[in-house]
Amino acid sequence: MKLKIALQKNGRLADGSTDLLRKCGIRFSNGYGKLRAEAADFPLEIFFLRDDDIPDYVADGVADIGVIGENVLAEDPKPVDAFEKLGFGRCRLSLAVPKAQPYEDISDIAGRRIATSYPNILRTFLKERNVDADIHEISGSVEIAPSIGLADAVCDLVSSGSTLFSNGLREVETVLQSEAVMVARRDLGDEQRAILEKLLFRVRSVKAAAQNKYILLNAPEAKVDEIRRLLPGMRSPSMVPLAEPGWVSLHSVVDEADFWDVVDSLKRAGAEGILVLSIDQMIR
Ligand code: ATP
Ligand code: ZN
Repeated sequence: MKLKIALQKNGRLADGSTDLLRKCGIRFSNGYGKLRAEAADFPLEIFFLRDDDIPDYVADGVADIGVIGENVLAEDPKPVDAFEKLGFGRCRLSLAVPKAQPYEDISDIAGRRIATSYPNILRTFLKERNVDADIHEISGSVEIAPSIGLADAVCDLVSSGSTLFSNGLREVETVLQSEAVMVARRDLGDEQRAILEKLLFRVRSVKAAAQNKYILLNAPEAKVDEIRRLLPGMRSPSMVPLAEPGWVSLHSVVDEADFWDVVDSLKRAGAEGILVLSIDQMIR
């Protein structure tokens, strides 16, 4: 018995998806043009598909689980369970107008033509704000629609915003936030569920590792109390004496989110020789 997973073949989620499996210790070969692969050391069969087709394949049971952007399900809901955010493929669906066009609030968009590949999400967003606009569905290259006279505004996916900017547009509203998410069919059998639990355990330890850094530093013994308070650690920091009397080395784990703040405070508290390493897996 194998668990079948569907991943995006080419595109923005493809590398993140295969990297995640590899970091989970799952080895497979996905040569160019390959549509199917079998993991060498885990009961997993991998299908490489167009991302937009993945929800249907999972809903129909062709695949047991899949990785897609939350935006895809938000636009076109399917009977699958989205149960685990994966921390990559982060983007937002934004409303943008030509730079020179004045914009105060959403009411300025009333009566305008908006080009988008996400008509359902946009329609709901506008309706909730009581704004009536003309939604123009196009399937790609949305960002050029205003410059060719096809629309007055766009609603498109962005990550840095540089594509919009270089097309003379500015973001004025965030319509939706999205990241890659793992989905599963609703009628998974017990055996598949057991394999999924094993996979999820690894996925969560990879995610936790990505959110944390391993930090090593030297400190005079007199400063240890103050420095310890800055280092939360999993339980408490490890402490190793240095060959030089009166000095110790402290090792701990720090959350990526406030990492630079912690490093600044550590330096101020007298820490020296600070080393920071990334973590492959973190099992709590
Ligand atoms: P196609 O299916 O035709 O290849 P697509 O837009 O669905 O086009 P990608 O551009 O690879 O395919 O996007 C896949 C997913 O990656 C999106 O659905 C979204 O969740 C995510 N994503 C992350 N950042 C961005 C971004 N800057 N622009 C578009 N999508 C992004
Ligand atoms: Zn797609």
